[in-house]
Amino acid sequence: MRTIGLLGGMSWESSIEYERIIHERVRERLGGVASGDLVMRTFNFAEIEALQSAGRWDDAGRLLAGAAQSLVAAGATAVVICSNTMHLLADEVAAAIDVPLLHIADPTGDAVRARGIDQVALLGTRFTMEQPFYADRLRERFGLTVLTPDERGRTIIHTVIYDELVRGVISPSSRDAYVAIVDELVARGAQGVIAGCTEIELLLRPDDISVPLFATARLHAEAAAEWCLGGAS
Ligand code: GLU
Repeated sequence: MRTIGLLGGMSWESSIEYERIIHERVRERLGGVASGDLVMRTFNFAEIEALQSAGRWDDAGRLLAGAAQSLVAAGATAVVICSNTMHLLADEVAAAIDVPLLHIADPTGDAVRARGIDQVALLGTRFTMEQPFYADRLRERFGLTVLTPDERGRTIIHTVIYDELVRGVISPSSRDAYVAIVDELVARGAQGVIAGCTEIELLLRPDDISVPLFATARLHAEAAAEWCLGGAS
């Protein structure tokens, strides 16, 4: 089995789910007591959040790139960043290592396309919804039209992530607010919704909305498990 490296703790509420999903997928496939072969760096999210809110992306990039190198030195044959937002730094991280970086938008775009969807809504942090790094990859590599909520909706989605979800708070009223925003996006033509923040799938479940929900942490973790299994013997 190939060893995979995880850059986690962004936040740990979702990166523990990555670990669980990888182990479960490997056990399903190999049976017995098989589990994933992982090396993981879990950051203190307070430090990451401080860099994000100060716009210190160069410092964050150096931090992630250095950590990715340490995962490779520890045996990782590929690296995943367990956060959509921090894929803003994907190019810097990929350039620092000589093994593949498995980008979170790729299994997501594949899953959207597999459902025959052309027009998809993207929910995530402000960084993910407002900067081009994520939507552009979905457009350019998967030919998707990407819709985002209006300013009010983006504020609600972003605030719930940082004030609740990364703190382990799952609130029914926030779920209702998310569902109302999804309803608006569906009325604008969204045929599916990307939960483009790895904690959103802890709040919003497929049954809560009328169109397919694409859970990025699950899709990315499953892709990571497939990487491990690609070397299974
Ligand atoms: N986990 C989140 C994401 O997928 C947000 C936290 C962060 O900023 O890393 O974007």
